[in-house]
Amino acid sequence: MRVLMVASEAYPLVKTGGLADVIGALPHALAQLGVDTRVLLPGYPAVLAHMGDIRRLSRYAELFGGEAHLLGGRMPNGTQVMAIFAPHLYERSGNIYLGPDRKDWPDNHRRFAALAWVAAHLPAGPDGWRPDVVHAHDWQAGLAPAFLMLSGRPRPATVMTVHNIGFQGLFPASLLTELRLPADLFHHRGVEFYGQIGFLKAGLVYADRLTTVSPTYAREICTPEQGFGLDGLMRWRASDLCGILNGIDTQVWDPGHDPLLPAPYGADSLEAKKISKAGLQYQCGLENSRERLLFGVISRLTYQKGMDLLLPLLPSIVAAGGQVVLLGSGEAELESAFAEAARDNTEQIAVRIGHDEHLAHLIQGGADAILMPSRFEPCGLTQLCALRYGTLPIVSRVGGLADSVIDANAAALADGVATGIQFSPATREALSVALERAFALHREPLVWQAIQRRAMSHEVGWQAAARQYNALYGSLLGQRDPATESTARISL
Ligand code: ADP
Repeated sequence: MRVLMVASEAYPLVKTGGLADVIGALPHALAQLGVDTRVLLPGYPAVLAHMGDIRRLSRYAELFGGEAHLLGGRMPNGTQVMAIFAPHLYERSGNIYLGPDRKDWPDNHRRFAALAWVAAHLPAGPDGWRPDVVHAHDWQAGLAPAFLMLSGRPRPATVMTVHNIGFQGLFPASLLTELRLPADLFHHRGVEFYGQIGFLKAGLVYADRLTTVSPTYAREICTPEQGFGLDGLMRWRASDLCGILNGIDTQVWDPGHDPLLPAPYGADSLEAKKISKAGLQYQCGLENSRERLLFGVISRLTYQKGMDLLLPLLPSIVAAGGQVVLLGSGEAELESAFAEAARDNTEQIAVRIGHDEHLAHLIQGGADAILMPSRFEPCGLTQLCALRYGTLPIVSRVGGLADSVIDANAAALADGVATGIQFSPATREALSVALERAFALHREPLVWQAIQRRAMSHEVGWQAAARQYNALYGSLLGQRDPATESTARISL
């Protein structure tokens, strides 16, 4: 079976968020199941710079404003990549979505329509490679199922995955012709979304099957509260929708072999985790203390992530004997408010604004707990890394957080299955209670360590997800595996 993944980012070539982690790891996990998976990406400078074995596959005389070439190559993990070399669309410095003014690039509609267009008009490779399934990810690839539908059968089967329904790729209706979309698709069961063109909506309407990144999020996006206006469409297509929980790359995220930690550790050598804690405190200029409960945050600083809920609780965390290390970037107001809080108490609060893979690993290794008070969280990867590092996730009970963390309530503790702390609703009050529970558990080292060990044994790799995607592709191609499939589908 041949699968083409279409996406706008892939770790380690280019990354702004969790989507890159998925595209970097899922194809490799699928390959281990015998699925021949390739990835199609825009040819940003970073992609071209980090791709290996580059060769030219074909030429497009006119691709949304200029000439383009399709290049073949490999990711460092061996996954085959195709990149669209189109300087007029992708050759620019800075963020792949935003210009220097931190606003969307004004031609994003063309940049990502081009990605979808190439996905739908892929020439047969020199090795005769053509996909059986085109798997589009997020709004940037959303037009691919529409273009494939327009190209007429025979065509590959199509899957659309939503990583965050809040990002929809909306553009003015006046761009319809430029986007190569016929006017008769512009209606509410087509590409139209409240008077605009919706790239994600196009994918959700025209793909054969829909997935999202956790079973709970699959249910949530069918509700008006979490559907961002697409809940009606999601309910209409509920029988084609399933939630498959993401995994993480357990080679990159492995406390036993992490070169970014001062010392390795595992479930049987938790004492050595304290070396990372001391290293993190030292690097961030915090008081060196074994006793203080050190909370880590690695997050976009946004309303979605509930960072405004955490901010006012910083003084009470410190008063209760805690420390906080926060790494992230996002809304300017939150960035400066957190930076100011750190300036007021440099011994106990450290804030680093920016993206820093190295520090992210050290926080996972050195913190005692990771805070994720998200208002919504399609899957979330940070808590999966935290489980693997025995760094207890303290999470709001939404989306993939609800599906991946087992709350340390009395029953779960008695059964030895607890892996973290959940709270609900995502409010400051509920987060405050969760923090108090964390302090109480931390005062009982044996209980805390038992939760750590359980968390570290939790399966967070990609194997389970890869098996479910494989079954989904198989069902689309008529090779049904009802056993696997029925567990993945949502029920409303
Ligand atoms: P998102 O909604 O941002 O995609 P996820 O939890 O799904 O959130 O994935 C984000 C990924 O990026 C996680 O692996 C997280 O640890 C990482 N990350 C987020 N912010 C930073 C940062 N400032 N520096 C390094 N890594 C980060």
